[in-house]
Amino acid sequence: MQKCNPKIVFKDYSPNQILLLPPTLEEMIKPDHPVRVVNQVIDNLDIDPLIKNYQGGGCSSYHPRLMLKILVYGYLTNQYSSRKIEQAVTQSIHFMWLSAMSYPDHNTINRFRSERLKGVLKEVFSQVVLLLVEQGIITLKEAYLDGTKIEANANRYTFVWGRSISKSKERIKKQLDELWTYAESVAREELENNEPEGFDKIDPESIERTIISINKALKGKPVDKKVKQKLNYAKKNWPENLRKYEQQERILGNRNSYSKTDPDATFMRMKDDHMLNGQLKPGYNWQISTENQCILGYTIHQTTNDTTTLKTHMESLKESLGKMPDTLVADAGYGSEENYEYLENNDVEAFVKYQYFHKELSKKWREDPYRTDNLQYDENDDSYTCPMGQKINFIGEKIRISDNGFRQVNRLYQVQDCKGCSVREICNKSKYNKRIEVNPRLNHYKSIIRERLTSERGRKYRSQRPVDVEAVFGIIKGNRNYRKFLLRGLEKVEIEVGLLSLAHNLAKIASKN
Ligand code: SF4
Repeated sequence: MQKCNPKIVFKDYSPNQILLLPPTLEEMIKPDHPVRVVNQVIDNLDIDPLIKNYQGGGCSSYHPRLMLKILVYGYLTNQYSSRKIEQAVTQSIHFMWLSAMSYPDHNTINRFRSERLKGVLKEVFSQVVLLLVEQGIITLKEAYLDGTKIEANANRYTFVWGRSISKSKERIKKQLDELWTYAESVAREELENNEPEGFDKIDPESIERTIISINKALKGKPVDKKVKQKLNYAKKNWPENLRKYEQQERILGNRNSYSKTDPDATFMRMKDDHMLNGQLKPGYNWQISTENQCILGYTIHQTTNDTTTLKTHMESLKESLGKMPDTLVADAGYGSEENYEYLENNDVEAFVKYQYFHKELSKKWREDPYRTDNLQYDENDDSYTCPMGQKINFIGEKIRISDNGFRQVNRLYQVQDCKGCSVREICNKSKYNKRIEVNPRLNHYKSIIRERLTSERGRKYRSQRPVDVEAVFGIIKGNRNYRKFLLRGLEKVEIEVGLLSLAHNLAKIASKN
């Protein structure tokens, strides 16, 4: 019997069919879609601070809620550039719904992001953090602090180094000194009443005056051709170069480097160095504190070192949330006398590791008789005793001033004579008598912190820290693929991390819902 082919059936496809009652965009969005959270939360924010950034007059503007919604939703869906958001507003029903079928172009989106949000985004962000508290997602009692370096939108090869400026100035100083010595050898009398103000002061005006004096003195004298050439070069270039160096030093401030394409960006070593060549790149240090993987606060820094960022970050938290967390958990990058003292003064319980915390717990470390920590201290005569029974006496203090201006006092002790000691090879590698440096204040804090960190609570915080704060950076850099800033300048970069943080928290609310 012949087998008959089954009938092929297609679903109805009539693209040109007109609906009598077309569905609204709202109907087409799933009830639990994250875009609904973005819409609902931003609808309930107080945007008065943002409205203050509008001057009024001229053409009507797109509503700031609309603009904030599409920007935040862009950051939530890995669409960071204004052109991509402009495109999304015309193509994606989620963006169309948020913008109520308005189509702001990329210039408008960019202007809103870099001008209207300037100085006010943190206020808006803190309202979302307080909403998280209201919903019981966070308590603001504990905070996990960490930082990451993100590459700036700047050319990697247009750098200015503080060290090379000082070297160039030193070179000019040395060469000017040589020119003056030569001029003295040829025309001592003419220069007698014309002594320069001192070669220590290297500024364009004094250099100009000194070169004029040398030229005047050498006029009409038989002068070496090379010296003549050097003098001409110096007259033409040195004052101008020094003016340029002065301006560069002003931009540098306390930093060692900056990029000419984004002068606020500092050259730093990035963790995710795919080329593995250790190349320094222009970037910013982004610090966040989190609780339950929600961002409580963010700050942007131009220093590579995390230690000096803690104070500014905590002050920023206090300003935006009205209080500091009761407990702060952070890694050894933040453990310093300055930070421990600051946290103590602000009633924040520190679970902040210090350098060598883990090594210190090992048997090898604890039983090493040559380590300063294991030497016996005698309070009566303020001295230590070395493993061979010699006294290590106090010889003076060493003061260190941190970048934040904190004064750290280290006490120095030295043995009188290490000559002929049988264990010298192991104990003292220096050619002088053994010298140790002790910071009693830091040691006091370290003993408190050690006890906290090894307690049950401390162990819990230590294992929670990577899951809480490091995971957030993992989500933003890995899942959201955010690895380079789009905007230039400290203020604008801060807006970008604000938008990222806001989007991250809204995604958290959406996932909890
Ligand atoms: S090397 Fe000096 S400090 Fe070390 S054990 Fe010998 S005497 Fe003492």
